[in-house]
Amino acid sequence: MRYISTRGRAPALDFEQALLTGLANDGGLYVPENLPRFSLEQIKSWVGLSYSELAFEVMRPFVKGSLTDAEFKAIIEQTYAGFSHQAVAPLRQLGANEWLLELFHGPTLAFKDFALQLLGRLLDRALLKRGERAVILGATSGDTGSAAIEGCKACAQVDIFILHPHQRVSEVQRRQMTCVLADNIHNLAIEGNFDDCQEMVKASFADQDFLCGTRLIAVNSINWARIMAQIVYYFYAALQLGAPLRSVAFSVPTGNFGDIFAGYLARNMGLPISQLIVASNRNDILHRFISRNQYHKDRLHPTLSPSMDIMVSSNFERLLFDLHGRSGEAVAQLMEDFKQSGKLSIADDRWQQACELFDSLAVDDEKTCQTIAEVYAQCGERLDPHSAIGVQAARACRRNREVPMVILATAHPAKFPEASQQAGISSAPALPPHLRDLMQREERYQVLPNALNAVQDVIAASGNRGKPL
Ligand SMILES: *Cc1c(COP(=O)(O)O)cnc(C)c1O
Repeated sequence: MRYISTRGRAPALDFEQALLTGLANDGGLYVPENLPRFSLEQIKSWVGLSYSELAFEVMRPFVKGSLTDAEFKAIIEQTYAGFSHQAVAPLRQLGANEWLLELFHGPTLAFKDFALQLLGRLLDRALLKRGERAVILGATSGDTGSAAIEGCKACAQVDIFILHPHQRVSEVQRRQMTCVLADNIHNLAIEGNFDDCQEMVKASFADQDFLCGTRLIAVNSINWARIMAQIVYYFYAALQLGAPLRSVAFSVPTGNFGDIFAGYLARNMGLPISQLIVASNRNDILHRFISRNQYHKDRLHPTLSPSMDIMVSSNFERLLFDLHGRSGEAVAQLMEDFKQSGKLSIADDRWQQACELFDSLAVDDEKTCQTIAEVYAQCGERLDPHSAIGVQAARACRRNREVPMVILATAHPAKFPEASQQAGISSAPALPPHLRDLMQREERYQVLPNALNAVQDVIAASGNRGKPL
């Protein structure tokens, strides 16, 4: 399988190269040159497969030429064996033909584990084969950092540096990162805000001289392998609800458009998905695009659902590429204009095409808490604020009550106890057994001033280890 850039000017890569690269050198994102398409018969034959068995079938075409079937199968088995629920991604009925897909049974209790647990193993294998070491560098305001750390802590070939704003992440979120004591994990608490952390990461990717040649890898959702891993659970849920003989709809709590883009790909691969709902919080740039064809940048609004607090959605470019007949030139032009003006609208017929599949809703904090309270009263199910936004959007935007509606539950409620409290639920949601003693565990992190050279010195120093073999 070959991967091409959405801006048309970077070299095409194979799977392993795309995995190790992240952003294309023309500023675009990698997408498969030809998306695999499964027949009805083929999809039908997957009814009843376990999560890992299905993951292998769905993802196999994407890694073709880079891993053997046996290698890939073994990696997938290991990846999902670490999830705490037998079903890996259990479906729970919420209401009439309304289902919650629980994606929070991985080690860090958020859906990002589905991709990052796999990514860490794939990276380690690729680097080992090449006899290379690499540095993973990322900034986090919450979920991504812990999921990346858990995914890569066992990777012998990787040193991982995660920047978080000092004293500005919740204690649960900080401890999920800082209580991982493996020698290759480096948590850096920066005396600044999240944007400062992100800027330092961007600057380090733009000028990598401080690393003396060691490979730098991004694990944010622009990495193709993350999208790939997320396609699987759309198939998994739909097959249990009667697909491929019946259509299914999904409502997806959305920030960077990575998770829902995987659903869009599942549909293009042959899964009958009749509707995809973009569920946003107050940071609603995607909702404004889908409802009004206005992808216009706004300031950042902090909310109760911090993992969806974004100003722009990095994976949206991948959809734009398809909406423009996969013309890299057209996308490069649009993104250049957007960079200048902060605004983007597309031709009406192309926008209409997107609207045939996508609907959207923006949900504020008050409505989020109301939904948490409502669902708890209706069926005793506790929702985290991100998932609650998904439920609210599903109920408001549903087109056809005959079609099963699946809401992706992206985080465990215990990660966001303050939302439960604001919703008026008196007992705090409990952490699952493997994290019960989190508040008593030993932490390790380094506090650094808000200065690029201080951060780069630490990375370079930890570092003879970081040098290529
Ligand atoms: C990352 C995240 C999201 C947003 O996912 P995208 O792929 O960025 O759209 C939603 N909910 C939770 C809990 C997350 O951690």
